[in-house]
Amino acid sequence: MLAEYIGVAQLNDLISRQAELVEKVSLSELQRLLQLLVPLDSVDEPEVSVCLKFRCPEGAGVPPVLAVKIDGELGLECQRCLRPMVWSPGVDTELVLQMPGRSPDESYDQVDHIEVTEQGLELRELIEDELVSAIPFSPRHSEQCEVVSLTVEEEAEDESTHKPFTGLADLLKDGQSEN
Ligand SMILES: [Zn+2]
Repeated sequence: MLAEYIGVAQLNDLISRQAELVEKVSLSELQRLLQLLVPLDSVDEPEVSVCLKFRCPEGAGVPPVLAVKIDGELGLECQRCLRPMVWSPGVDTELVLQMPGRSPDESYDQVDHIEVTEQGLELRELIEDELVSAIPFSPRHSEQCEVVSLTVEEEAEDESTHKPFTGLADLLKDGQSEN
C-alpha cells in the first residue's frame, strides 16, 4: 500500500540519508490513471514499479532533489485499430523539492519542482501525475496493428464510406481541368 503522504519529518530524514525507496504500486490505488487505461490480456493485476531517490545537493540553500523512476506494463487503446496495446511508461525524471516555508525563487524556474506542504509530500498524487502526463497523446502500436478480418457486413459498410471520397476525387479532378 502506497503512503498518500510522506510527512515533513520523515521526508527530511530520507533526504539527509539520501535514501532510496523501491515499491510496487497496484493500479487499483491509482484510480484516476486507471480510468485512462484499458485491461491487457497478459496482465491480471496491473502494477507499476516505483523508485524514488532522495538527493541532497551540496551548497548552502540548495534545495533537495527527488529522482523518480516509474515503469510497468500497462494497457492503452491504440488510436489506429482501437485494440489494447502494451505501454511502458518509462518515467525517469528529477524534481526539485520546494520545502515548506521556502518561497519559490528563480532557481525553481529552471527545473520541474514540486511543493511540499506542511502535511508533507503528496506521494500518491505525484506518482499518478507523472504517469498521467507520460501517456502519449495518440498511442499507436509501434509495429503494424493486428489485421482484423472483416465480416461481409463490415465490408459492405466499408464500401459505402468510401463513396464520398470517390466523389471528392472527381471534384478535385474537375477543378484541376479548369485551371
Ligand atoms: Zn493498433
